[in-house]
Amino acid sequence: MRLILGFLLFFALLSNAQSHYPQDYFSSPLEIPLILSGTFAELRSNHFHSGLDIKTQQRVGLKVKACADGYVSRIKVSHYGYGKALYITHPNGYTTVYAHLQKFSPDIEAYIKKQQYKKESYEIELFPSSETLPIKKESLIAFSGNSGGSGGPHLHFEIRDNAERPINPMLFGIDIADTTNPYVKSFYAYPLDEYSYVNNSNEKQKLRLIPIKGGDYVVENIDAIGNIGFGVETNDRQNLAANSNGVYNIRSFVNGNNNFELDFKRFSFSETKHINQLIDYEHYATKKQRIQKLFKKNNPLSIFKSVLNDGVLSIEDSTYTVYKVRVADFKNNESWITLNIKGAKTSNPKASKTKTTPYHIKADQTINLKENKVSVDFYKDTFYEDFYLDFEVKSDTLILHKNVKAAKKNFSITYDISNYNNEDKSKLYIARLVGYKKYPSYTYTQRKGDLLTASTKTLGTFALATDSIRPSIKAINFKNGQWLSKYRYLKVKIEDKLSGVSKYRATVNGKWILMEYDYKTKTLTHDFNDGVVRDTKNNLKVIVTDNVGNNSTFETLFYRK
Ligand SMILES: [Zn+2]
Repeated sequence: MRLILGFLLFFALLSNAQSHYPQDYFSSPLEIPLILSGTFAELRSNHFHSGLDIKTQQRVGLKVKACADGYVSRIKVSHYGYGKALYITHPNGYTTVYAHLQKFSPDIEAYIKKQQYKKESYEIELFPSSETLPIKKESLIAFSGNSGGSGGPHLHFEIRDNAERPINPMLFGIDIADTTNPYVKSFYAYPLDEYSYVNNSNEKQKLRLIPIKGGDYVVENIDAIGNIGFGVETNDRQNLAANSNGVYNIRSFVNGNNNFELDFKRFSFSETKHINQLIDYEHYATKKQRIQKLFKKNNPLSIFKSVLNDGVLSIEDSTYTVYKVRVADFKNNESWITLNIKGAKTSNPKASKTKTTPYHIKADQTINLKENKVSVDFYKDTFYEDFYLDFEVKSDTLILHKNVKAAKKNFSITYDISNYNNEDKSKLYIARLVGYKKYPSYTYTQRKGDLLTASTKTLGTFALATDSIRPSIKAINFKNGQWLSKYRYLKVKIEDKLSGVSKYRATVNGKWILMEYDYKTKTLTHDFNDGVVRDTKNNLKVIVTDNVGNNSTFETLFYRK
């Protein structure tokens, strides 16, 4: 019995090590040398990147191969996000994910199209059984593309465990040449309460970084007192890529002792939003730079390892502390940052006063605010911390603070529109006013009688906006009455400048045809190889609806034989 226990313990220890992940099981999904435009857990807007972004030589249409035997367990085709995505589940319990695809291999493509025609929808999600589409290792499954939210041709590749948690694919032996140290761009100190100071200031301070030999850094010495945290802006470059990517591990040490560690090996989708609490959200929202905090304030993320005192340093008077940070990439190229801290009472013991307002948000409470025709509902645990909110309603404009506080849940904004006439009511939506020009950006709005409700995680200024302009629809590659016998594709441009396109429907002689929508080029494309357009004389009808319900109908004739 003791022997078995010892044996189990041995495996439990082993399972935490890198060797736990099979090293030769998964082959490369592409036939080209792998160069990354994105690493695992890289910091993205509102999420950690869940896989590797593999460059595809600025082209679409490269063969994508199954990394191992298995079966297609999920197919998702969507306008946004992953675009065309394929999920293959393998006998060892892992699932590989291939996204932003151009198209699928012929047999998979035929299977999907059949379902799309049945459902009369380009967007579709399917969960085939294990017998439906079995896959052999290294067989062709798809072609790489740029579909969905992709900003340039690449393959987004993931490996997930059986609990749907994405894991760094490099842990499975996918090898990317990297001999360069991570780069440290900036370094910050944070006095964490009103009694804490850095260089006589109670505010966040950018500290001067001095590069030294071998890619390391020293930070100018500081005087400090109280509870202090630090933050770092850092990234990594790999050998064959000009772009910079995310780092793999960040650790800090206080007088030689482990203090804090961030480890980008695995996370779950339910926690990815907490990235906004890992980074200095206000700094990011206002300056677009991501400072990773090296202290864990109210953050439930699982990527924190061996955290002492939440990574916070308690600096006392007349002490001397050496603080070091180690930033490493997956290949263990490391950069060190060294900072000497002298504990010294402040000669300026006046903390900068936090601005107060009548609206004190308590993070653990549900709060309803109402003024005139506008109300806002914050549910319990929407925010990470208590703060004073700016709230003001001026006719149809709602000032709801600035976008400087991260929210982990949506809150709702409701406008009572009973004072508008019926004609106007049907054209109204809630917009976020963005940028210097206060451009009204559509916020997903639902109407129930005389109430309009929008749900969002982003604070800022909102207003009622009107969309009374119908979507526009234009033929791209043909004219009314044209013969298209030799054409492979039928292309139509659709656009709605204010509230945006909500849905579209295309038919030929009354029969639904599949048109793929690419929102980036505003293009609808039908492939005549689908074989559904069989008549000589064809009446194409496209109906597009925007987000407040304005419709446009486009009708044209074309001929084929
Ligand atoms: Zn990606």
